[in-house]
Order: sequence, then structure tokens, then C-alpha cells
Amino acid sequence: CVEVQGVHKFFGEFQVLFDVNLKVRRGEVCVVIGPSGSGKSTLLRCVNHLETIGAGRIRVNGQLIGCEERQGRLYCLKPGAIAAQRRNIGMVFQRFNLFPHMTALENVLEGPVHVKGIPRKAARPLGLALLERVGLADRAYQYPAQLSGGQQQRVAIARAMAMEPEVLLFDEPTSALDPELVGEVLDVMKALATSGMTMIVVTHEIGFAREVADTVVFMDQGRIVEAGSPQQVLDAPKNPRTQAFLSKVL
Ligand code: ATP
Ligand code: MG
Repeated sequence: CVEVQGVHKFFGEFQVLFDVNLKVRRGEVCVVIGPSGSGKSTLLRCVNHLETIGAGRIRVNGQLIGCEERQGRLYCLKPGAIAAQRRNIGMVFQRFNLFPHMTALENVLEGPVHVKGIPRKAARPLGLALLERVGLADRAYQYPAQLSGGQQQRVAIARAMAMEPEVLLFDEPTSALDPELVGEVLDVMKALATSGMTMIVVTHEIGFAREVADTVVFMDQGRIVEAGSPQQVLDAPKNPRTQAFLSKVL
């Protein structure tokens, strides 16, 4: 599970996150919505320790992210320990971030081979199985430039899965795609959610949120303004800012 407690985040003098609290239990899907600049990406990046936090605690499966607590004091972890934590937290970005000079299969195998040290030959079946899972078994030997945006994003999801993370973070995974390619990526994400993956998804795909989310969180100006079930937040929002936002995106 992911627990975010009392998190504040500053960029210099500028505060981007204010007392953010969030709990995503194992196997749950949390969808984060909110206007541009509200801090959604920053929140995900803090969970992954791509950003350090100014105050508060983030735990993934009970383990503090980026630091450890000894006798009531927090100490920063060494880079190696942070990298180990990060391996457990997969991230899929808006832009697919595939290595252009590697085939789909090589992209998927990159983590298992270079980070986990699994021999390439031994890792291959896992890579092929993951590509099959995202519907791309027949594209294993193609390069990113030979794949559509939707296919590239599915490779990126398979690549994140290859590290067998306990949590997957998605930052607007479909917003750079042509509309007709969005569905195939959302379908893969739905299948992952059904298989019990713990996920935090920043997206404006309200249909996806309705169908898949256990909780929907609305952020505005660095704060969680409203959180609850999809029915509560999407169909009967209480906060005027949530109402105003939804009236624009729905
Ligand atoms: P969008 O929907 O446009 O992706 P967002 O909700 O993901 O927006 P963030 O990217 O988290 O928003 O940004 C939140 C605020 O923090 C914005 O005001 C942004 O300008 C600011 N910000 C983000 N990254 C940095 C940085 N590295 N340095 C300074 N300010 C930053
Ligand atoms: Mg963002």
C-alpha cells in the first residue's frame, strides 16, 4: 500500500503541496484529477522519490521512502538504498520514454537484465510474456519508431511491469496519444487493475476513473480538496472547485 501523510513540498520559496494525505491499499486503484499546475505530477514524483519532500512521510508497503527513522529522527537514505526502493515503484509517463535504439523486447528486458542482473536469456521468456500481456507479442523485434503511440505506451507499461513493482504510478499515460489510441492503453491498464496491481493514476479519463478507481482524489492548488469513491467525487462532488473542474472536463 501507499501512505502519504502530511506531505508539504516546496520548490525554493514556492509551495506546491500542502498537507497532502492519501492512502492507497494493496490492490487498489487511486485516480488523481485536477487542473494543470495543481501538483499531481509532483505528488507522484514524491512517491517515487524523484522529488524530496519538505515535511511529512511517505510509506510504500510500510517502508519510509527516501529516509529512515531512528530514535524519532529522520535520516536520508544513501543513493543505493533509494534506487532499491524505486525499483519497487514503477512509473509510466505521458511521453513513452522508450530507448529508441532498442527493440520493444530489449526495452522491456532492460530493467531485469541491467538492474536486476538476470541473464538476458533467462529474462527473455518474461519479456515475451509481458509483451503478450499488453497485446504486442508480434511486435517484440520492432523499434519504437516502428510502433504507434499506443503501442509504444503499452511497451512502456510492459517495461515498468518487468521490474515486478509493488506499485505502479501513471502520469497522464494517454494524454499524448491520438484519441483513437487511448482505448487500447486504458484496456491494458484496466486489465492490470483487475489483476490486483496497486496503482495511482493521474488522468483526465473520467470513464476510466468511474470503471476502475477505488478512490478518486481531486487536487487544486497543491491540496487534496476532495477524495472518495468515484460516485462521491465524480457524480456528487461537494466542493465547488471540484464541481467547476468536472463541469469543464465532462
Ligand atoms: P499538469 O496537469 O499541467 O501536468 P500538475 O498538476 O502535474 O500539472 P505539477 O507539474 O505537479 O502540476 O506542478 C505543480 C506546480 O509546481 C506548478 O505550479 C509548477 O509550475 C511547479 N513546479 C513543478 N516542477 C517544478 C520545478 N522543478 N521547479 C519549480 N516549480 C515547479
Ligand atoms: Mg502533471
